[in-house]
Amino acid sequence: MSKSKATTQGVAPILPKHYNKAMMKRDEKGYLTYWNDQGKIRVFSGIQPTGEIHIGNYLGAISNWVTFLDDYECFFSIVDHHATTVAYEPGEMPARIFDAAVANIAAGLDPAKCTLFVQSEVPEHTELAWMFSTVTMFGDLGRMTQFKQKSREQEENVNVGLFTYPVLQAADILLYKASAVPVGEDQVQHIELAREIARNFNARYGEVFPECQAYVSEGKRILGLDGENKMSKSLGNTIGVLEPPESIWKKLAPAKTDERRKRKEDAGVPEDCNIYMSYHRHFSPPEDLEWARKGCTGAKIGCLECKKRLLENMEKVLGPIREKAENLRARPYEVNDVLSRGARKAKKIAAAVLAEAKAAMGLVRLKA
Ligand code: SF4
Repeated sequence: MSKSKATTQGVAPILPKHYNKAMMKRDEKGYLTYWNDQGKIRVFSGIQPTGEIHIGNYLGAISNWVTFLDDYECFFSIVDHHATTVAYEPGEMPARIFDAAVANIAAGLDPAKCTLFVQSEVPEHTELAWMFSTVTMFGDLGRMTQFKQKSREQEENVNVGLFTYPVLQAADILLYKASAVPVGEDQVQHIELAREIARNFNARYGEVFPECQAYVSEGKRILGLDGENKMSKSLGNTIGVLEPPESIWKKLAPAKTDERRKRKEDAGVPEDCNIYMSYHRHFSPPEDLEWARKGCTGAKIGCLECKKRLLENMEKVLGPIREKAENLRARPYEVNDVLSRGARKAKKIAAAVLAEAKAAMGLVRLKA
C-alpha cells in the first residue's frame, strides 16, 4: 500500500451508535449538551476518599446528588488519583476508598440508580487528561484559586499533579460526555475551565465534547462547629455523618451560639447563631424551627435545650444512614461488587469516548 493512499484511509475506530453527534446539541442556554440514547443528560461528580464524610458533605453534596438519580444518567467516581496530590499514607488508601463507597451508598447513592466506581480503575481518565493538557493553557491553570490556596497550604509539596488537577477533573467529566456537574461554589472555576478545555478541543479537532456546566446547590454553605469556617476535616470542626449521637452531643453541647445568650434570660437572634443557621435549618422540621425561633427571641428556652432538639432531629436523618453503613460494612464483598460493576460500566463508555477523541486527534494506526 502506498503511503499516500494509507494516509487518506487512516483507521477510524468503530463507535457505538449512541455516540453519534446527533445526540449533541445546544441547550436552551446555548451550551453544547450531550443526551444519551435514552434522552438523558449525564451527570458526573467526584468523591474524595478522605475517610470521614461530614454533614457539610452530606448537605452540600450528597443530598444534592440524590436529586439527580431519577432523571439523569449519573456517574460518581471515588477520585483516588486526585487524592494523591496531597501527602498520604499508601497503606490507608484502600480503607479510605472503601469507607467513601460505604458512606456515600448509605447516604443515598443507590447503586441501582447510578454508576459508582473508583477513578484509578478506569485508566482512560489519565490518558484523556494528557490529551487535554495539550489544549489547556498554562496561564489558565496558574489562575486557579484552588491551586493557589493548596500551594500555600502545602508549600513543601507543590507537585505538578496539584497544578494539573483541573485537567484531570475535566477528563473525569468529559470522558462520559457529562454535561451537568453538581458541585459546590468552590469548584465552579474548575468546571468553567473544563468547559473551556472542551471548547478548545472541539475548535481544534472537531465537535467531540459537550460544554459542561456547574450545577451549584443552593445556599448550603455549612459552617463548622467553630461557627467561622466552612466545615472541613483539616480544621477539626466537623460532625461526621456516621458519628453516633453521644459523640455528636460532645461536640454540639459546647459549640458556639449567639453571643447575646449568656444566660437563659437573655434573648437571642437565631440568624446570628450557627447552630440554627447551619444545622437546625437543614435537619429540623418547620414546627421545630418555629419553636427554636420563638424560644430564642423570647428567652424561653436555653441553648442546651435547643441543641438537644436539634440532636433528635439529626438522629432521625443520620440514624438510618449509620445503620445502613453498618450493614454494608458487614458485607464488604457487596460493596466491592458495586465498585467492580461500576468500573466495568464506566470503562465501556470511557473506552468509546477516548477512541472517538483519539480518532479526532489523528491518533490512529494506518490501515494495513
Ligand atoms: S436558643 Fe438555639 S437558636 Fe438561640 S442562640 Fe441558642 S442554640 Fe442558637
